[in-house]
Amino acid sequence: MEKNRGLEEIIRRTAFELFSSLKDERPAIFDKKGWTGRIIEWAMRDDDFKIRLLRFTDVLPSLKSDELVLRLFREYFSGTTEVPLIVMRGIERLSRGSKAPRIIAAIIRNSVKSLATQFIAGKDPKDALKSLHALRKDGAALSIDLLGEAVVSDLEASRYETRYLETLEFLAPALTARHGYRHYGDKIDISLKISSFYSQIEPLNWDGSIEKVKDGLRPVFERATALDASITFDMEQYYHKDLTIAIFKSILDEYKDFHWAGIALQAYLKDTREDLMSLLSWAKRNDRRIIVRLVKGAYWDYEVAVNRQKGWPVPVFLEKDETDRNYEELTRLLFDNTELIYPAIATHNLRSISNAIALAEDLNLDEKHFEFQTLYGMGEPIRRALKKWPVRVYCPVGELIPGMAYLVRRILENTSNESFLRKSFAERMSFEELVRVPDPQGKTPGETEEAFRNEPGTDFSKAENRQKTEDAFITVRKKFGRKYPLFIGDKEVFSGIETRSTNPAEPGETVGTISSASRNDAEESIRQAMTAYVSWRKTSAESRAGYLFKAAEEMRKRRFELAALEAYEVGKPIMEADSDVAEAIDYLVYYGRQMLDIARPRFLGRYIGEENEYLYEPKGIGVVISPWNFPLAIPAGMASAGIVTGNCVILKPSGLSPVTAWQLVEIFRSVGLPPGVLQYLPGPGAEIGEFMVSHPDVDFIAFTGSKDVGLRIFRLAGDTHQSQANVKRVVAEMGGKNAIIIDETADLDEAVYGVLVSALGYQGQKCSACSRVIVLQSVYGNFCERLKEAMNSVKVGPPEDPATFMGPLIDKEALKKVRAYIEQGKEEGKSLLIKKVEESGYYIGPAIFEVTPKVTIAREEIFGPVVSVIKAADIDEAITIANDTDYALTGGIFSRSPAAIRKVRDTFRVGNLYINRKITGALVGRQPFGGFGMSGVGSKAGGPDYLLQFMNPKTISENTMRKGAVPSDSPRRGIS
Ligand code: NAD
Repeated sequence: MEKNRGLEEIIRRTAFELFSSLKDERPAIFDKKGWTGRIIEWAMRDDDFKIRLLRFTDVLPSLKSDELVLRLFREYFSGTTEVPLIVMRGIERLSRGSKAPRIIAAIIRNSVKSLATQFIAGKDPKDALKSLHALRKDGAALSIDLLGEAVVSDLEASRYETRYLETLEFLAPALTARHGYRHYGDKIDISLKISSFYSQIEPLNWDGSIEKVKDGLRPVFERATALDASITFDMEQYYHKDLTIAIFKSILDEYKDFHWAGIALQAYLKDTREDLMSLLSWAKRNDRRIIVRLVKGAYWDYEVAVNRQKGWPVPVFLEKDETDRNYEELTRLLFDNTELIYPAIATHNLRSISNAIALAEDLNLDEKHFEFQTLYGMGEPIRRALKKWPVRVYCPVGELIPGMAYLVRRILENTSNESFLRKSFAERMSFEELVRVPDPQGKTPGETEEAFRNEPGTDFSKAENRQKTEDAFITVRKKFGRKYPLFIGDKEVFSGIETRSTNPAEPGETVGTISSASRNDAEESIRQAMTAYVSWRKTSAESRAGYLFKAAEEMRKRRFELAALEAYEVGKPIMEADSDVAEAIDYLVYYGRQMLDIARPRFLGRYIGEENEYLYEPKGIGVVISPWNFPLAIPAGMASAGIVTGNCVILKPSGLSPVTAWQLVEIFRSVGLPPGVLQYLPGPGAEIGEFMVSHPDVDFIAFTGSKDVGLRIFRLAGDTHQSQANVKRVVAEMGGKNAIIIDETADLDEAVYGVLVSALGYQGQKCSACSRVIVLQSVYGNFCERLKEAMNSVKVGPPEDPATFMGPLIDKEALKKVRAYIEQGKEEGKSLLIKKVEESGYYIGPAIFEVTPKVTIAREEIFGPVVSVIKAADIDEAITIANDTDYALTGGIFSRSPAAIRKVRDTFRVGNLYINRKITGALVGRQPFGGFGMSGVGSKAGGPDYLLQFMNPKTISENTMRKGAVPSDSPRRGIS
């Protein structure tokens, strides 16, 4: 206690000294004298303006023409009153009244450039040398951070590596201090981002990612050794954190004599203490000393948003004070272990800095034991105030264009309410407030349990999940070759007609042998369904929903095995298979909850003496006909919708995924669903499917599959039989020919990645897959080049291999068809890429063709990784091309123009429209899914209206008056 009080006193004293010397200084960004300083000041006051400013700053570097700069400027800043006045006046003054776009655009560009140069040391090492020299002369040590575009291909990764090497080569000789004692501060440090070494980096592919990144790292370590430079690993997103640490250790195991390697750790992460402890024991075991750069963390908003979206625990502290307190505790841990660690205290926070100094004094550490780090352009006053201590400046170097992401992040950080720089320099907060002991209030709001939440995808950055996946592959493989019966009533029936379900990656392997149903079997199942229906329709909605919830629970328990089975049976790469299982669980939970809602009594009108009840009744007997491409989620969705609404369902799965569909039936059996409510009847679609569709006792058909089959089902179902009691309802989800538009304002890093994932995810075998990319002329060349390289870099291979991005196509027939389309593409357009792959299994590499909109490959649904790129003159033409198709399923745009986005929202005719993201992966309850046109009837799976299609609405109107006596309220309403 006494000791703590003593320490607190030193902290305050130190802070006071620093505070006094900071008093008259402020970083350039907050200098209100300049025009840009005033804009930043405004941004801090007005959130709406801040977002506009950030978004405009973000898009500006990609705008190729002056007209475009002016157009976007107007799009972003018109509509706000006071703010643009400042901006406009500034522009007018600088342009001396000229209205020429060229002059105004130049002024805008220069203003943003001048903002950027405050944070970026130079566009390349040569350009940065002067400012770096100046810092060096002023006693600062340096760490160089190379800014750049996101790496989306092997080619871009190798270019990045070359830049690291050239930077070292150029800067290390020029800036390494060659006087006095040899010390870390003398060295040039280079900050590396592991994501820049491998475009396919992915924790699921743990060993593969480590090896690939290390291939790129070795030359950098060699050069750094030769040039006496040091290396620090930056820390990026949490998802890559464990992998980053693993790569760090693994490369250092190879470079045992490299003594100046460091890693950044983020104090805002709840895991960091544990990570640091494990790094300490690793360093001890290996008898080495490493640098730890302790930062607060720069991706807070991102981590909170993305992890919440994924349904994963938020890895960061939610209260700023928790991070600050953790920072102090971690500083202590670092300082207690300086024989193993050289701490770099990277913060601008007066309290955190003073705490470090106080601890150093307490532990008798001097300037040889640790250093401070500040950010170029932002920490200058702090660096100068810290004159007694070694300070390293983190200096971003890079082109303005790719550097914008960094700039935007920094502006965001420094203008956020929680920012220390803002508090100390812009708001001139009191000394007392600035040195306050961090004191978390524990007021983080709890999550409400009521809302529907999607089943989270598996987090493959966790070792235990990777292990469970490996184990599941072994378990599932052991069950290969089993025989699966039909399930009719409560009986497993082996029909004697057998078909094999094979592994598309190894067609010789039989995943399971399936009994195929005959017409007699179909008749019998319909009879059983009709018998079961008598009591099932009377079963309460709660009880019916209860079966779905229990089935969901059971599915959760089996999720790793279900995903492994999908990988084997339909060639789904493991992450895609995992999402399919999660989606299946979602349907069960979502439809169960929806049914409970729908079942609540509803009364219409409020008239005394009259009671009107509105309710829904099941339709009767349904046939569910499902495709193979979402082998669990789609049958689970359609079947559970049928069941929960009180119908009895016969499931006819695709002949290509019957073993996976069997699991669904088996799960429902395991939770005690009464016999006859869900039956399993695989068999040839054209025979057994059609027989049931046409059967007079079938009341509805829920179908998902191709357009041709869907339309045929509509025709057959519409042909009423004499003995038929009901007009059949057909719920049909069919194909798509989906387009993504890339306009001249798109963020190409995101656009290339978004198109790649949408087009190649599950080998392009999704109804939602992107198969047309419509690109505006001015970005066409650059986009196509990057897309080509990115697609060429994806790994095609067996789905069980974690390195695989694309597995095989579903079967020989599919392979033949896709190959034929590729041949046709060669004739109809110019091939930009046809990636060759090994021949065993039904593998095919991605292909890109440059075509005009009317050719066959740009019009027909191709279930494979074939992309048509089409050039458009402007956004109107792009939308016209996009809409010129029979289908209307999914579509998307990558754009940073508010006007273009508005136009696309209004005129792009698709069921699911996506803006600035991939067009696949719709989530139940969040992005209800389904198209119109020739893509389906427009109902939305996973949406609030879906279940209504499986029921007949009924109105019951009762006269509640007897001889003039009227109950004060309707008797039934009383219980509602
Ligand atoms: P498919 O149309 O060949 O088969 C779908 C199902 O219909 C299978 O169970 C099949 O056995 C059955 N079937 C085939 N002929 C039949 C007939 N004459 N009568 C009754 N049933 C018959 O489709 P697929 O190859 O399994 O799946 C791929 C297609 O599904 C693509 O066109 C894709 O776009 C579409 N799809 C659409 C959605 C969506 O939500 N819109 C989702 C997934 C797949």
